[in-house]
Amino acid sequence: MPELPEVETVRRQLAPRLVGATVVEAGSHPSHKFTPATETIGHRIVTDGRRGKFLLFGLDDGRELVIHLGMTGRLRLRSTTGGPCDRAPDGRDERDPDLAYLRAWWALDSGETLQFIDVRRFGRIRVVPASDYSSIPTLAAAGPEPFDPTFDGHQFWARLATSRRKLKTQLLSQRPVAGIGNIYADEALWLAQINPKVTRISPQRAERLLDAIRTVLRGGIDHGGTTLRDYRDVEGRAGDNQGRLAAYGRAGLPCLRCDTPLRSAVIDARTTSWCPACQRR
Ligand SMILES: [Zn+2]
Repeated sequence: MPELPEVETVRRQLAPRLVGATVVEAGSHPSHKFTPATETIGHRIVTDGRRGKFLLFGLDDGRELVIHLGMTGRLRLRSTTGGPCDRAPDGRDERDPDLAYLRAWWALDSGETLQFIDVRRFGRIRVVPASDYSSIPTLAAAGPEPFDPTFDGHQFWARLATSRRKLKTQLLSQRPVAGIGNIYADEALWLAQINPKVTRISPQRAERLLDAIRTVLRGGIDHGGTTLRDYRDVEGRAGDNQGRLAAYGRAGLPCLRCDTPLRSAVIDARTTSWCPACQRR
């Protein structure tokens, strides 16, 4: 599932091509997970943003287009005008097998069409009044952005202390800090040398964990995201952070710090890998 670094990579690529453009035509599959894309027709995209794993595009009428990529969602831009043969407004091209999974599209006055391709259909699209996320509970309850300079280790510790659940579970809930999923949770806990099953940590360890979260997320962004199977950027390219993972998916392999084989277990339904020697309980 795309996490903060993957979503941020997509945001950075889309922003210069979406902001300032007006939606001239649009369509989407009927789904309770989607606000119909047609609601954006006639509106200009005026801002871009991201909160956790959600993309936020402000419209000129004070509403916001909110996109969550889910498990397998992908956004891409296709030219719809010019060239030897003009394409259909939704950017369809029979030679493109991914179009079987086209769930929504927005044709822009720039001559490009934004396409949302989603094989497993966990992605969500909403158009809401700007900053009113009451219809998107995960987003409404999301904790601070990890790179918010006013967010510090003590605040992070205080947020963690409100729950007795295992640390790994808390990170995945988005509540202590936004944007982390299974991959970067395992990576950050390994880097901070903290066991994923603990339920309480000291303020000092919370500070170290926040530093580790920032380090692994920044590394993910710098390497264009992590591609295990489905994730692709706007240009269709895989990220290359998967070659840098120290914990996620490495169960049985030697710890890169101490050579002890990493262990794995399912913690609250998510497979988790950690080093039994340098991430002791
Ligand atoms: Zn180790």
